[in-house]
Formats: sequence, C-alpha cells, structure tokens
Amino acid sequence: MAKLRFQALAEQMNRQPKEVVFPSTKATDYYGKLVFNKESMAKYLSGDAYNAVKVAMEKGEVIDRRIAESVASGMKAWAMEHGATHYTHWFQPLTDGTAEKHDGFIDYGDNDNMIESFSGKLLAQQEPDASSFPNGGIRQTFEARGYTAWDTSSPAFIMGTTLCIPTVFISYTGEALDYKTPFLKALAAVDKAATTVAQYFDKDVKKVYTNLGWEQEYFLIDRALFQARPDLMLTGRTLMGHSSSKDQQLDDHYFGSIPERVSKFMIQLEIESHLHGIPVKTRHNEVAPNQFELAPIYAEANLANDHNQIVMDMMKRIARRHDFEVLLHEKPFANVNGSGKHNNWSLATDTGVVLMAPGKNPKGNLQFLTFVVNAIAAVYKNQDILRASILTSSNSHRLGANEAPPAILSVFTGSQIAETLDNLAEKITDQKMSPDEKTALKLGIGRIPEILLDNTDRNRTSPFAFTGNRFEFRAVGSSANCAAPLTVLSAAMAVQLEKFSGEVDKLIAKGVKKDEAIFQVIKKTILESNPIRFNGDGYSEEWKEEAAKRGLTNITSVPESILKYLEPDAKATLVKSGVMSERELEARVEVEMEKFYMKIQIESRVLGDLAINHIVPTAVAYQTQLIQNVQGMKDIFSEEEFETLAESRKDLIRNISGHVSAIKAKVEDMVDARRKANVIKDTTEKAFAYDKEVRPYLDDVRSHIDKLELVVDNELWPLPKYRELLFHK
Ligand code: ADP
Ligand code: MG
Repeated sequence: MAKLRFQALAEQMNRQPKEVVFPSTKATDYYGKLVFNKESMAKYLSGDAYNAVKVAMEKGEVIDRRIAESVASGMKAWAMEHGATHYTHWFQPLTDGTAEKHDGFIDYGDNDNMIESFSGKLLAQQEPDASSFPNGGIRQTFEARGYTAWDTSSPAFIMGTTLCIPTVFISYTGEALDYKTPFLKALAAVDKAATTVAQYFDKDVKKVYTNLGWEQEYFLIDRALFQARPDLMLTGRTLMGHSSSKDQQLDDHYFGSIPERVSKFMIQLEIESHLHGIPVKTRHNEVAPNQFELAPIYAEANLANDHNQIVMDMMKRIARRHDFEVLLHEKPFANVNGSGKHNNWSLATDTGVVLMAPGKNPKGNLQFLTFVVNAIAAVYKNQDILRASILTSSNSHRLGANEAPPAILSVFTGSQIAETLDNLAEKITDQKMSPDEKTALKLGIGRIPEILLDNTDRNRTSPFAFTGNRFEFRAVGSSANCAAPLTVLSAAMAVQLEKFSGEVDKLIAKGVKKDEAIFQVIKKTILESNPIRFNGDGYSEEWKEEAAKRGLTNITSVPESILKYLEPDAKATLVKSGVMSERELEARVEVEMEKFYMKIQIESRVLGDLAINHIVPTAVAYQTQLIQNVQGMKDIFSEEEFETLAESRKDLIRNISGHVSAIKAKVEDMVDARRKANVIKDTTEKAFAYDKEVRPYLDDVRSHIDKLELVVDNELWPLPKYRELLFHK
C-alpha cells in the first residue's frame, strides 16, 4: 500500500499545467453560445413560436402543444448545428447533483429510413424511470411513475453532445420529487406578496424578482493522491489524517497567488461557464491550502441556481482533465477551514429597484427599511426550518465547529442599520403623529447613506448578514442545492410580507394614513424580531449563552433539526404559502432522514474497512519490526545496557499495541451499533440511532488512527497524509 502512496506522490510531482484552449480572445465573442437564449431563438424559431416562448419564460408558464412542435424543431436545428446528437430532460432530484438520461435524436422515419427527430411532446414532457430517485415514500403509496416537464423560465443548453432541457420532476399524482418545483412555487409566492408591499411605494410595480449570487468554495486535490484515499473517493471527506505541521495559521493562502496548474483549470472552467451563459466573474484562493472560490454576477434565482448546478457538474469534469479532483464536501479535512456557499439574496422590482438597497430619498429608504425589517422578521420566525434546510450530515461538521457560522441563526445588520432600526422603534408612537414628527422620522430615514459605511467591515462570523444591498445566507454548505435554503427563505419572506401588508391594510381601513400605518407595523415588526439581531462575534462562547437567553435555538443534531419541518410553525410557513403540501413536507423529511443515516452508514463502513485492512496491518508490521529490533539489541548489548536502551522501544511497542487494540475493539462496537440501527424500520428513529449510537465512533476510531500516523514509519504509512494532499502545487 505504501507503494501506492509514493507512486501517487511521484505522479503528482511530474504534472505539468495543461494548456487552455480559448475559443476566441474576447469572452463576449463566445458568451452564451451553448445556450438556446433569446438571440438563438430569434434566429431559429418562427415569430409566433418565439413570442410564445418569451411569454412563457417570463411568466414561468407551459407553452401550447402546437407551438411546442415548432419550438422543438427550431431547438433541434440549433442544437444539431452546435454538435448535439442527443437530448435529455435535466432535473434536480433530492440527491446531490443533477440527473439526466440521454436519448438520441436518431429515429425511424415514415419509410423506415433513419431521421433525426425531436417532437414537441418530447420537449415538453417525459417519463424517466423515477424509481431510483429518493421520494420519501410518495411513490410507494401513489403511482410508481414520475414525469419531468420543461421549466421554460430556464433556457435549454448543450453539454458535450447533449441538448439539456431544464425540467421539474413530479410524481404522477402531482407531488414534487425535486428541488426545483417547490423553489419555483416559493419564488412565485414571494413575488406576489412582495409586489403588494412594493406597490405601497410605487403603483407601477408589477413583479418582484428574487436575485441570487452564489459564491462556490471548493478544494482541488491532485487526482493520483485522491485515488489513493478510499475515504475521499467514497465519502468525499477524509475520515482520518493527522493535521499537517503547517496549515492555514500563517494566512498565506487567502488571496495569495494562484498556482499555475490551478489557474489553468480555473480559466478553462470560466471559458466553459461563459459558453454556457453563466456569468462567472470572481476567482480567488480561500482560507485553507488548496481551497478556492468561484462567484458569478448575480442573476434571477432559479436561473442562478441552475447555473450553480451546472457549474458544480462542470467543475468535476474539467478538474479531471487537469488531473485534479474537486471536493465539494463541506469539511473534507478536519481542523482545516471548511467550504461554504454564500447565498447572496435580494428582491428587485420589474421597475429596476433593488429592494434591499437604500433608496435615493426618504420614500425609497422607507421601502428599503420595510423589506429589511421583514427579512429580519422572516428569519427570526423561521430559524428552525432555515437551519433544517442547510444542516446536512456534511455541513454539520462545519456549522458550530468554531470556524464557520454557528448552528444558531442570527442576523448581522451592521451598526448603521441597527441604530436606524432602534431609533425607528423608539420614535414611532402608537398615537396619531403630528406632521412635525412625521417629517423628523422621514428626515432620519432620509439620512441612510447610499453606501453603507460598515459594509466593508463585514462580520464574517454571522450566518445571515446584511451587506449593503442584499443579505448573505452564509451558513449554506458548499455541496448544497441553493434551492433548498432559498425555498424556505422565500416562503418565509412571502408569509411575513403578507402578514405585513395585511396589518397595514387593516390600519388603513380604520382610517390611518398609509405612511403612518407602515410606520406602525414596521415598529411592531422591529420589536418582535429584536432577539435575532446580533452584530457581535458569532463564534464566541458568550454568544451561545446570550442566544439561549434570547430564546434562539441552537441545534447541532441533524435529525433533530430536520424534525422541525413537521412543527406547526413550519407548516404555517411552507404549507400555508402553497410551497409544499403536507404530504410533500413529510416526504422531504423522510428523504432527508434517509440521506443522513445512509451517509453515516457509508462513512462508518469505509472507516471500519480502512482501519482494519489498511491501518491495523501497517501498525502491526511496524510493531513487528520494532520487536525484532528489540530482540536484536538483546543479542548485542549487555543485560544492563539493554535494560536502559530498549525501554523507549518498548514504550513505542506498548503505545502502538494500545492503539491497535483500541481500534479493533471500537470498530467491533461500531459494527454492533450499526447492526442494531439497521433493523430499525422507522426512518426517523433510524436516523437518530445513527446519530447517537454510530456517529460518535467515527471520531473515536479516528483519534487512535491519527495518533498511530504520528509514530508509524513514514515509509509504511499507506495513505497520503494531510501535508501531501494539501500542499502540492
Ligand atoms: P464577497 O465579498 O462576499 O466575497 P463577492 O463580490 O465575491 O462578495 O460576491 C458577492 C456575490 O453577491 C456576487 O455573486 C454578486 O453578484 C452578488 N450580489 C451583489 N449584489 C447583489 C444583490 N443586490 N443581490 C444578490 N446578489 C448580489
Ligand atoms: Mg460573500
């Protein structure tokens, strides 16, 4: 085995950066070339078809069957011209990543001749075999089939030689089996509720869009080294490995120069992203060695999320071409910074106003404050399901682990906004306000500067931060589908905004003036959501105590967190907003519980195998060498000399024996715990059993292995070490 380790190291040392192929010198020459965007549509579709698709895209509606025929034929012509031979309905099942089944355009024509065909029916809807995707029991009790249907709000694109049609994935009885369906419903709900509120300030607003700008963090590991680590290959993270003598303590990686091999990979990834109409813009090193980040310019949230899914998929493939492996796991290395995916989130009107950005006058600022205050309240009231939407088995290593946002939800506003909100709450009275009081209030609001000063000093420890013109949900994990957190956030915001306008309208009906009604409901909303506002250090122990005093929840157990989806409060948000039916919500809980225990189950199996098949034999082999050495010493030294000289060797032998015995015993106990958990029928109970009874062994067994790594001969150690995985060029 050690041979494999050194072979991998040698392979890695011989690597040369790969050459990048530029389609053209300017990105604008090839940007969006592989997307069936408005430009290509105008060229390949009839006028009627083009208009029908444009309307459907904007409204997120399905298109007429007759038009679908003509759209399909234009799309096929375009796709074939760009090298496509196959098509697929591309969807986002409740697993990690996306799914696709490729079918060729090739078909029999009317006279048994071969033709390339793609009908409107095939464009609009398909029936993939849904049985192999997680569904939380929906398919057992209802129909066995599922179908995919074109999401016209996201354009088709070409990946390799396949035309990909973004779709939703639904059971035959109409339940969502994917991330996209509830996300689209949540976006529609927030559009409706936010439009009503925005119309208080501008009657011309007809639609409110949700924007998303994701920041994708990831690790790049040399492929040969990756392949010499079964734990990385099978679980996405290292289940063992002692910390390197040097990690990130010198802070010399963040924003440092990018190694050439990595830079070539990044450039290639950017080119392919641009070809696919994904506006990636920023690249840099992250905090940990071999950790990097990629971010686009923000876009409409459903499209931006599709882009993120495409990028995650492309990253893996392009990395392999550059002899790298991408790690999207939230915590691939213990004691090294983990990877997140900040979700930069804002609402914007069809009149071009970003609702989370300060306005240009008191009225604009009042609108801005209205949306900020409601966002804070939405987070406050839905902290448990927001956490549930991001706390997965992999992200749980990151959250609350002292280097990432804690498992307590709080909102950072910066001192300027905090002061403004406190002032408002204090100055707004319940009585009818005099014109002077109103003017004073409006003047105060008018002073919110367009560029907020403390944006620059952003609090990196906050899980949910206001950053000048948007909120950043920072606790989201790097491997997440952003639709999961944004569905909950959007539903929460929709319900909150609806409540807000309901209360304002009630006051207006009682004869209170509109602006005064808004002031009063703002005041009430600020006061009721005060506990969630926190500008201090989210990593500190004091915050945990303080948060508990404020009644904020702090849940680190994944199954416990998932169960919050079933509480009445959760249903009041997710079901009431029409985003999910109760049945869908229950199914989702089932799927999340299942995913959780399965991941722990796999990790536990892999760790058991590695411990018994790789580590114990290696340690025993080294121990045997030591024993032979001690025996040899006995032959050449006097008894007295031997007694003193051999003592340290004997200590080492004892030390190794101790760890080997502990590993063997603990692995056996772990297998026992697994056996007991495996017979549990109820998924939730099983998830809890895995969390409480199996999971602790992962750290326990590991700690013994990591100690062995420090004493066993480096020549014998079978697995690439942290310093080798993380410090190659
Ligand atoms: P950071 O300093 O947090 O790393 P970046 O500039 O790298 O910030 O990324 C911020 C992300 O936020 C980008 O995707 C950017 O387009 C996006 N963003 C900027 N303004 C908004 C907004 N109003 N709404 C949503 N996303 C935004
Ligand atoms: Mg950010």
